[in-house]
Parts: sequence; C-alpha cells; structure tokens
Amino acid sequence: PFRRATRIAAVELSEIIQVSEAAAALKRAGRDVISLGTGEPDFPTPPHVVAAAHEAALRGETTYTPTAGTPALRTAIAAACERENGYRPEPAEVIVSTGAKQVIFNAFFATLDAGDEVILAAPYWTSYPDMVAVCGGTSVVVPTDAATGFKLTPDALAAAITGRTRWVLLNSPGNPSGAVYAPAELEALAEVLRGAPHVGIIADEIYQHICYVPFASFRTVAPDLAGRMLIVNGVSKSYAMTGWRIGWGIGPRRLIEAMAAAQGQATSGASSVGQAAALAAISGDQQLLAERNDDFRDRRDMVQSALNATGLIRCASAEGAFYLFPDCTATFGKTAPDGAVIDCDADFTAALLSAEGVALVPGRAFGLPGHFRLSYAYARASLAEACTRIARFCQSLT
Ligand code: PLP
Repeated sequence: PFRRATRIAAVELSEIIQVSEAAAALKRAGRDVISLGTGEPDFPTPPHVVAAAHEAALRGETTYTPTAGTPALRTAIAAACERENGYRPEPAEVIVSTGAKQVIFNAFFATLDAGDEVILAAPYWTSYPDMVAVCGGTSVVVPTDAATGFKLTPDALAAAITGRTRWVLLNSPGNPSGAVYAPAELEALAEVLRGAPHVGIIADEIYQHICYVPFASFRTVAPDLAGRMLIVNGVSKSYAMTGWRIGWGIGPRRLIEAMAAAQGQATSGASSVGQAAALAAISGDQQLLAERNDDFRDRRDMVQSALNATGLIRCASAEGAFYLFPDCTATFGKTAPDGAVIDCDADFTAALLSAEGVALVPGRAFGLPGHFRLSYAYARASLAEACTRIARFCQSLT
C-alpha cells in the first residue's frame, strides 16, 4: 500500500541533507566535526522582527490568511520592490508562499505538463531539478564553468531552447556558485529570450541582499519581458528568517492566480505570524542588510584566500550569496592517509570528512562534479579552523 508514486520515485533525500546527517552521526560518535554544509545565515532574526510577530499573535492574528498572502504584506512587498528594484508591481501580481521554495514549486506545479522542459544552468540549487521532476517536467541542464563565472551564456541558452521549453530558471546571486549576473549579461540573455516568446523566465533572486557587486534584477533590466517573468524572493536569507517560511513571487496576474490555485489545495495561505514578521522585516530599518553583507564579504575573502593557498584547491571569486564553489580536480588520483584514493568530488568530501571532520557538499549534488560547495555563513573561528584542517588534509595527500 505504501509504494511510491511514479512522480516521486526518483526523488531521494538531497545530498546536502545526507552530508549534514553524516556529520551529525560523527558528532554523536564523539568526533569534533565542523559542518559547512548548509545554507543558512548564522545571524539571529532581528529582534524587532521577532517582536512584530509576537505582537501580531497577541493581537489575534492567528487565523487563516488569504491564500495569496495578507493584503498588508503584498502591498509592502510591492513597495519594497519599488524601493530596491525600481518597479512597483500591483499587489495582485504578488503571491506570498511558505518559503521561496514553495513559490518555485507552485510555478512548476501550475504550469508544467509531461514533456515540458525547464532550462537549468549547472551548478544549480539541488531542489530545482527535483521539483521539475515531481511536477512532471524535464530538466534541460546546461553546464557552465569557471571561465564564464559559472554563468549561462546567450549562445548556450539559445542552443538549449526547444519548442517544448516552458521556463528558463536563472538564480542570481547563485547557489552554489555565488555568481552574480551583471546588467549587460542579463540584457544579452533577454535578447535571446525576445526571440523565443513561448519561454517563461523564473529569476530566483532570494540572495539579492547578499551581494558584493551592485545587484540587478532581471525584471529591472528587461521590463519588456515582465509579462512572462516570475521573480522569486523572500526573507529567509536576507533577514536570517529561514525558519519563518515566508517567500514571494512577483509575476503576471494569470500566473499568480494559477499558483494561488495550486497553493490553495496544498497549504493555503502562509503562516499569519510569519507574514507579520516578514512585513516588519521589509518595512523596518534596512541598515542591518549592509552590515551583514560586509560581514559575509569579509568571511568570503578569508576563506577564499585560505583555500587558494592550499595549492590544490582552485577557488574562483564569488560575488554574492554565502557560498564558494571551488575546484578540487587537482586532488584526483591522490591518496588520503587512510589509503582512500580520490577519484571524484564525492571521494574528496568523504575523505576530508573522515580525516579531518570537515563536512562539505560535493559538486555533483549541484549538477557540476569536480567541485564542492562551502557555505561560509558560519562563525569566523569555525571557518578558520576548517581552513586549517582543509590545508592539512591537502598536504597529507600523496
Ligand atoms: N532558492 C535558492 C537558490 C536557495 O538556495 C534557497 C534555499 O536554500 C531557496 C530558494 C529557498 O528559500 P526558502 O527558505 O525561502 O524556501
């Protein structure tokens, strides 16, 4: 009776979760483990945001909310969008969901039929292809490399588009690469998309505020494509609110209505207190975003130079998000002290975990082997110790 349905048959526990579970098991066994595996800011949710949620609960905002979000939050999102990105959507063009993840899921669930294609640039956030598969679509993965800054080029995009393409998904700043598309790069992609009017665009901009170069929203660069574009954003990363589960989508009304229809049969409106908290976050003092951004940038610099100093790991610069995606292919063919031979990125991360107790996620989890992802959203002391251990591990390889 509990046979898996076909649509979920191929979906396994993500490798990110597997890595954190392996690290947790080692910790329970008494090992000193540093896990740089998960993508979550280490800052607390700002106190005024927590207070706003508390006050909302005391005021009685504890009942069901409208499916697409509270009017107050949808209006505040439109205002924040105008302030930050220079365009102001109608509240009806905004849907609030249980995290940015549900926004993307809703979009696929509401629009994909069997055989419909979604173009993803690798390395990608692990959930994208799984969500496409669960929703019955087919991922068309376009690999990128360090030479293009892990960014999709106009030629590669043009070559991947077919008659069945429904969406291209862009993520800037990107997880796991930290890549940020410059306005001219977005414009060049927009030019390709102007010639493919059947293709929709999902721009996942959840890391907008963790960005060390000026951020450009795809919708700001190409307002003429707004009618087939879904912008994804939320409070999880920017305001250190991953557990509150509030994200949003901004897109044409018909798409938002279809996504609301899907959400209405899955989860209904997002949490009432979560929405009150998100409202306070995006409407209140924004100074903390710049302060936290500077802090993340310092940590990136520290880890990036330490990794490059190993001589075996090549770490390209990342301009946003809180990840590095270094190349570990120079370790291939080498042997770890316990005799394990490193032949791929997963061998590298497994041998490092075993030898030094540092947990990282292999690049294959993001569709681009030969690399690993390191999240630097951790305390400086942990990062410094992890870098020391990684360097020692590299030196120990023969
Ligand atoms: N998009 C990207 C690229 C992410 O890395 C994440 C979280 O890891 C999400 C979306 C999901 O965000 P949320 O926690 O708001 O669902």
